[in-house]
Amino acid sequence: MTIDNFNFKDKKAIVRVDFNVPLDEKGNITDDTRIRGALPTLKKILADGGSLIIMSHMGKPKGKVNPKMSLKQIVPAVSKALGVDVKFADDAANASEAAAALKPGEVLLLENLRFHPEEEGKPVGIDKEDPAYDQAKKEMKERQKEFAKKLAGYADVYVNDAFGTAHRKHASTAVIADYFDKNHKMLGYLMEKEVNAVDNILSDIKRPFTAIMGGSKVSTKIGIIENLMDKVDNLILCGGMTYTFAKAKGGNVGQSICETDKLDLALDIIRKAKEKGVNLVLGTDCVAADAFSNDANTKVCSVMDIPEGWEGLDAGPETRKLFAETIRGSKTILWNGPAGVFEFDNFTAGSRAIADAIVEATKNGAFSLVGGGDSVACINKFGLADEVSYVSTGGGALLEAIEGKVLPGIAAIKG
Ligand code: AMP
Repeated sequence: MTIDNFNFKDKKAIVRVDFNVPLDEKGNITDDTRIRGALPTLKKILADGGSLIIMSHMGKPKGKVNPKMSLKQIVPAVSKALGVDVKFADDAANASEAAAALKPGEVLLLENLRFHPEEEGKPVGIDKEDPAYDQAKKEMKERQKEFAKKLAGYADVYVNDAFGTAHRKHASTAVIADYFDKNHKMLGYLMEKEVNAVDNILSDIKRPFTAIMGGSKVSTKIGIIENLMDKVDNLILCGGMTYTFAKAKGGNVGQSICETDKLDLALDIIRKAKEKGVNLVLGTDCVAADAFSNDANTKVCSVMDIPEGWEGLDAGPETRKLFAETIRGSKTILWNGPAGVFEFDNFTAGSRAIADAIVEATKNGAFSLVGGGDSVACINKFGLADEVSYVSTGGGALLEAIEGKVLPGIAAIKG
């Protein structure tokens, strides 16, 4: 079933969205991209004459109630975005009456699902090494099913529009789908768009294909890096990873972020790239700082020769040129992870050079996909989000999809 083919008139729809929006200390939303992303699905259901039960997680409360992560804080913003006074259920597991009372056009937002350990389905307060862990996990899986069944009982139809959590087999993202037949579960518009963007990258690769992987660590990106090596022509590795590679090659990286236990892995990546004929592009110079601060003193130096007490926080001018040239000649581009500590205005040049080159390549006909929280924040900071082909709301989910993994949230609906 697709959302376009379903008439929601007089139906109650329970919709999993990703309203895990960033909040400031006062609970104000600092970036509402995720709310805006879900609007087409939510509005279609209301326009058909259906009623909505919206569910989401926020942050990582680890199965406990935490008012700082309460979705109650976003009720005014969601009400405004939908043009409807949104009702709120302060216990997601106890909302049967509120759901049953909904009339067409009405909206109920459930409290943060992750206040319940059943959502993630992981036992809490017990160590993995504990002999009782397996039993606790089994019990929790049963409780997860009960929780999912309860959520399913609120509605006639289930819609999953939360791409950001599609790689998780949680109660609301996957298990719940077992309680609806195939004509009463579907992906929302945002999900469909995300899935199509990934398909675009994977099924019809126009070459050269360049992937730019940045961020802080090699260890969190190794799966995707290895997988990409079978697909890409150019692989740019930047950001904090640069220094693990430089150190592995015998360089001095000063105080730069460096995973000393991943040096062999870095050499392995270099070797594999050679074997597979992938053009691996690593930074040659960097902007080093004498403190991890926007106001630190800076100097440009080779990534192989960073003085003691200094740390590389951004790509240097030679590197920026190298990256930009590689990107400009590409026809398919994937960007995940900044090239420097872009949160500090004085260390955005590397990421900016990448973003500008992607925009230029896109103008020349390339398909460009930018994904992952930090790269999206970065492209938004530069005001360039509308000038790339697609900005994904998924971080981990996007990377797993590109790795070719089947996402549980999608499999649960499509089978
Ligand atoms: P990740 O979550 O692994 O995608 O990493 C994103 C983070 O990496 C951002 O917050 C950046 O500030 C950080 N980052 C990028 N380059 C560096 C660097 N050279 N040193 C330290 N952190 C960095």
